[in-house]
Amino acid sequence: MIIRDCLNKTFHILTENSIDDAWLESEVLVRHILNYDRVMLYQNIEQKFPSDKLSSLESVINRRIKGEPSAYITNHKEFYGLHFYLNSDVLIPRPETEHLVEKALSLAQQYEHPVIADIGTGSGAIAISLATSLPSAKFFAVDISFDTLKIADINCHRHKVHERISLLCGNLLEPLPVKADIIAANLPYVKKEDIHADSCEPRPALDGGEDGLDVIRLLCQQVEAKINIGGHLLLEIGLGQKDSVVGMLKEIDSVKDIEVIPDLSGIDRIICASFI
Ligand code: GLN
Repeated sequence: MIIRDCLNKTFHILTENSIDDAWLESEVLVRHILNYDRVMLYQNIEQKFPSDKLSSLESVINRRIKGEPSAYITNHKEFYGLHFYLNSDVLIPRPETEHLVEKALSLAQQYEHPVIADIGTGSGAIAISLATSLPSAKFFAVDISFDTLKIADINCHRHKVHERISLLCGNLLEPLPVKADIIAANLPYVKKEDIHADSCEPRPALDGGEDGLDVIRLLCQQVEAKINIGGHLLLEIGLGQKDSVVGMLKEIDSVKDIEVIPDLSGIDRIICASFI
């Protein structure tokens, strides 16, 4: 069987099993087995698919149709143009979080040596994306799970930013040894009742309690003690949470301005609060 036939066959199986973006997903799985980038895949599309790899392809297709995300099957996800190692100990980085990275980058320009904290770092995607663009910044990346930090550590080394990112295990801002200029946080914000029972992602990375805002609420209680004068707090939020989060932030005495940034679907996704 040639690679094109394998791709078509994979596409049909995924489509029959109602997997979204079945063609893209087929490419990802076939490329993973062949260890090809996209260009190599299409350059070699008329070549024979190695018969000793057919059973591996079958096994990843089966995992995918049982609901496991491709990012966990391939241990890979691209975020902000960088390649991240992943497993099911960490949330899969989402494209909408790139808005948070962009806002943090623009705020960081006003500092010579900004101190930036990524709270609930997961795979390290936010801190690492920022660190690769901000060579004079110092970072703290915090997560409550030690297993998660092992994945962040792999990614810090992969992107050669491990000397500028201190990984800290603990509860939100508590482990920060100094105040930060920018605090960026993609915390769990999904309502408990909205989490799919068959979700493969770590529940603590998604579960924000009854209204989805339990963890963000805790962070708001800690923030004044851990942010520098003139600093900024950037939070990712979910659909319909803007008013509650803006309300929470307005209750903090040292919050001066609040800006809301929508994602590409028009959902209010990032809240940016500046502090005095
Ligand atoms: N955006 C993710 C989702 O909707 C949630 C991420 C989070 O809770 N921080 O599945």
